[in-house]
This record gives sequence, C-alpha cells and structure tokens, in this order.
Amino acid sequence: MPELPEVELVAQSLNKLVSRRTIIRAELLRARLAPFNSATDFAERLSNTKIMRVHRRGKHILFDFDNGQTLVAHLRMSGRFMLLPIERENPKYTHAAFYFADDSRLVFQDQRHFGFMRVVETAQLHEVKELKSLAPEPFSDDFSPVYFRKVLKMSKRSLKEFLLDQTKVTGLGNIYASEAMFLARINPQIPANEVSARKANVLFERIREVLRESIAHGSTLNVNPENIDGSYYGGGYTRGWRVYDREKEACVKCRTDIERLKQAGRSTYFCPKCQK
Ligand SMILES: [Zn+2]
Repeated sequence: MPELPEVELVAQSLNKLVSRRTIIRAELLRARLAPFNSATDFAERLSNTKIMRVHRRGKHILFDFDNGQTLVAHLRMSGRFMLLPIERENPKYTHAAFYFADDSRLVFQDQRHFGFMRVVETAQLHEVKELKSLAPEPFSDDFSPVYFRKVLKMSKRSLKEFLLDQTKVTGLGNIYASEAMFLARINPQIPANEVSARKANVLFERIREVLRESIAHGSTLNVNPENIDGSYYGGGYTRGWRVYDREKEACVKCRTDIERLKQAGRSTYFCPKCQK
C-alpha cells in the first residue's frame, strides 16, 4: 500500500502533467469505485471542466476543478493513474477515465479493486468523512512537538499502533513507522503515554526526517504516470530502509539481528538492542 511519500510524489507528478488541462468527458467504469456518486453524477460534475491543481491530504489525492468540484481519490492497495496517448487502449481494470480535448486521457487502473473516488463540492471538502478526522499534515505547523506530546499522552496503545492511527499522525504507514522508531531508538511496544517528553521530541523530528528523505529519494514507487509499461511498485527508496523488511539481517548500527513482531496484525521490524 502506498504511504504518504508515494502519494505526495504521485500528486506532484499529476499536478505537473494535467493541471490547467480541460477534461471534456469523465467516465466512471466501475460503480463501486465511487460509491457516493452515480456514473451520471460523476460524468456531469467532471466533464467540460479544467483541472486547477492536484495535491493531497493524508493519502488522498485531490483534483481541484474550476467549476468548484474536487475529485478525492485514494489509491489503496494497487490503484494507479496513467496518462495514455490516443493510440493506447484502456488497460484491463480501468475503473475511471478522463478524456482531454486531444483524445489523450488520464485513467485510473486498479487491479485489486480497493481504490476509492468521491466527487464533492470543493467548499465542502472539510466536511468529507474521509478527510475530516485526519490529524494535521506532518509538514504543517499544526503538527508540532507540543501537539505530538499531547496526543501521545492520551493513548495507552502501543507506540507502533498509535503511529499508524491517521487521526493522531497523518501519513505514517507500516514502513515509515518502523523506520522512525528505529532512528529515535524507541521500542515499538512501549505504550504511547509512557514515551518521555525527550523521546517524543526526538521521534517527532525523525518522523519528518524519514518522510522527507523518502520523498527526496523518489519513495518506493515508480510514480511516473507516463511510464505506462513500467512497474508501479519497487522504486528507488526500498534499498534505503534500515529495519523495515530486514528480519534476521544485521542492524546497521550495532550488527544485532533485526527482529520482526506482529502488532495489530501487521509486521513491525526493530533492533532489540538499539530500541530497548
Ligand atoms: Zn541495533
């Protein structure tokens, strides 16, 4: 599943490729992709309108249009935007298509069918259920050490589970949670409210560091929507992981074997010596 850095890069590249372009026709090809909009509603709201900007909130990609509508899109497990030239047919599992005047188009392909779209009034965006409970963006001023310490203190869950809760910290998934806790030298099983203020401050910095670093390294996805024959998954950053997916490999700091444990059904990787 793409994490925040991947979604950030997808949004950035889409913004470069399609903003200021006009969609003449939008087609919803799989009704369940957009459960809150009928195919007719979807087509009417997104046809003959110009894309003003593509950005993101949490792991949702947002397309703002000049007619006051916003398309909210979530890639989930395998969703992928592709920019297709006229001569290419829509690939298998194309669930939505957006045609430009020259007949080239942006399509949303999703092999595993978990993707999500919703068209809403831009002015109502803050009310959308999927977005309104999200914690502050990790690079915004609202996400501060003071905020972070406050929400840690209110939770008795393990630190790892706490970090994955998007209503407390937005954008940290399984990979980057493990990486940030390793860099901060904190045990993933400690209850969130027992993290000291000093450690919380260190962890706060490390969260931003791993996200920033991953974005700079092109994350784990090949996010180029024009590279339609390339694999979407397996970008440049996977080699940069320090603990994630390194069970039984030597810790990069102390050479102890990295361990894996299950927390809320998901793997956490950590160094038992560095993260006592
Ligand atoms: Zn170690």
